[in-house]
Amino acid sequence: MAASDTSASQQAFYDDLVKHELILPLGVPGVFGRGPVFEDILARFNDLISAVAAPDGAQRLHFPPVIPRALLEQTGVLTSFPHLAGTIFSFEGDDAQHRQLQEHLAAGQDWSALEKPTDVALTSAACYPVYPTCSGTLPADGRLIDVTSYCFRHEPSGDPARLQMFRMREHVRLGTPDMVVEWRDTWVTRGSELLRSLGLLAAAVPASDPFFGRAGRMLVAFQKEQKLKFELVVPITSVETPTAVMSFNYHQDHFASKFKILTGPDTLAHTACLGFGMERIVMALLKAHGFQVSAWPDAVRRKLWA
Ligand code: 5GP
Ligand code: ZN
Repeated sequence: MAASDTSASQQAFYDDLVKHELILPLGVPGVFGRGPVFEDILARFNDLISAVAAPDGAQRLHFPPVIPRALLEQTGVLTSFPHLAGTIFSFEGDDAQHRQLQEHLAAGQDWSALEKPTDVALTSAACYPVYPTCSGTLPADGRLIDVTSYCFRHEPSGDPARLQMFRMREHVRLGTPDMVVEWRDTWVTRGSELLRSLGLLAAAVPASDPFFGRAGRMLVAFQKEQKLKFELVVPITSVETPTAVMSFNYHQDHFASKFKILTGPDTLAHTACLGFGMERIVMALLKAHGFQVSAWPDAVRRKLWA
């Protein structure tokens, strides 16, 4: 079931996760269910984030894992990441077209041309629906928002840590450039300490997004030069190429200009977000401490099952 470019260690880790019923294959790479032990670890880690972040008083907002198609267009996903985006199609035809659909199905033929795009698309980052709700002038101390969403990215892979549908918990900071950068820097340290306190060998590294095509190469260069993205990486299936389990993205005024988010009459706000890759953190813990949670180091168990 794994994709052909899967490394031996990715395949072995995937097989172990399945054997221990931590994940439940569904027949498509990067899409699987999770067993109760996996979910318990995820919930405990989620509680730990809440405890660490509690003094900040972030406002918790909730959005479904779909966004309006117009928002997909506005956020620039189709420009920057058309290869990762997921748009939702549905059948809108009449009886004759329905008969055609059934015939295609019965003959095992491609039926997708009989569907039309709907008004919604799958969310690819938990923070996207936040920005349109923040249009207008921010309070003097800006805003801080806490959101979690299942996110879709079309990148089927045999690496169990690369999912097509995964949960991302994000904190989003909106305010002046100084507020936003200071908040981001505080969290790079906080995030590293949090992961290290759980026995994870987390390292902060400059990073870039997988922008599409020739124009994307310029965006990667800009992102690196301006130090706009950092990741905390932890070894999961490879020590040489550790996996990003947390990301910190400084958007400058990219979203503020699209959604008219202001700090003063003529001043655009700046925004930044940080994201926890929830499934990846669970996998990093399983890799570091083993598949028998009862045998994990006491210090780690105490932190998670306090
Ligand atoms: P970003 O929006 O910066 O690409 O991703 C935010 C966080 O989501 C990453 O740091 C990572 O932890 C998580 N993430 C990104 N892509 C994947 C993926 O394919 N699978 C999983 N499980 N998590 C991902
Ligand atoms: Zn974000």
